[in-house]
Amino acid sequence: MDCYGIIGYPLGHTFSPGYFSKKFSDEGIDAIYKSFPLEQITELPELLQRQTELRGLNVTIPYKEAAIQYLDELDAAARAVGAINCIRIQDGRTKGYNTDITGFEHSLLPLLQPHHKQALILGAGGAAKAVAFVLGKLGINFRKVSRSGQPEVASYDDLTTELVAAHTLIINTTPLGMYPDIYSFPPIPYNAVSAEHLLYDLVYNPAETRFLSLGKANGAIVKNGMEMLHLQADASWQIWTRGYKPTV
Ligand code: NAP
Repeated sequence: MDCYGIIGYPLGHTFSPGYFSKKFSDEGIDAIYKSFPLEQITELPELLQRQTELRGLNVTIPYKEAAIQYLDELDAAARAVGAINCIRIQDGRTKGYNTDITGFEHSLLPLLQPHHKQALILGAGGAAKAVAFVLGKLGINFRKVSRSGQPEVASYDDLTTELVAAHTLIINTTPLGMYPDIYSFPPIPYNAVSAEHLLYDLVYNPAETRFLSLGKANGAIVKNGMEMLHLQADASWQIWTRGYKPTV
């Protein structure tokens, strides 16, 4: 029987096994989806050799970047981003994709307005790279904001009310606000957020994080990460079962 799964560590309760098991059952496909918690990414080649029935894998924290070195091929967009979240296994060969790109782009596009030309990306991890790739593609100028004070990246202390007022698209790619840490939120001057703003949170649990509720209280349009989660999973499904290639 064909097998699909997810690698990462630790793998507590993740969305993917339930989502894909239901998808297989709904589509009448005889396949299973398993969690493969790998303590080290060096265990990936052995997993691929041992599980000959594997046809596809999702990749989650902390291996979205480190898994790339073990693949035979890389999709062009995934190469540009430097991170993957999906592997297709066909005829013994592996190819990596980044479907966070597709998920973010297609959930953002319907909300964009002409004045959304300057963005802030809060956080500078793997998901921030996919977000930056999409904004670059859409011609939206952006600044990343990080705690680490890297060159060319703003710090939270740099976020004046003027700067936040001028950046009407703000995307949270940090885990701040995610269950169970639901009272935390990115430290930005929310008093500078207005009805011109679109606040997008990649976090999807809870449905309304403090980041979003603070923005909404000032009239901003808000969006959580649930649609992106579904779209990225669906894009993985299409890559595995229909040979779909993401349009980037
Ligand atoms: P990651 O690689 O660990 O990056 C997260 C970044 O957030 C870190 O690099 C860090 O940036 C910043 N950060 C972490 N803890 C922080 C804190 N306490 N205060 C301020 N900043 C902090 O993780 P990721 O893969 O990018 O994922 C980030 C979030 O997006 C997670 O919550 C994940 O669940 C979510 N996500 C959602 C979807 C979806 O489909 N909706 C897809 C992918 C990811 P600095 O150290 O530079 O500040």
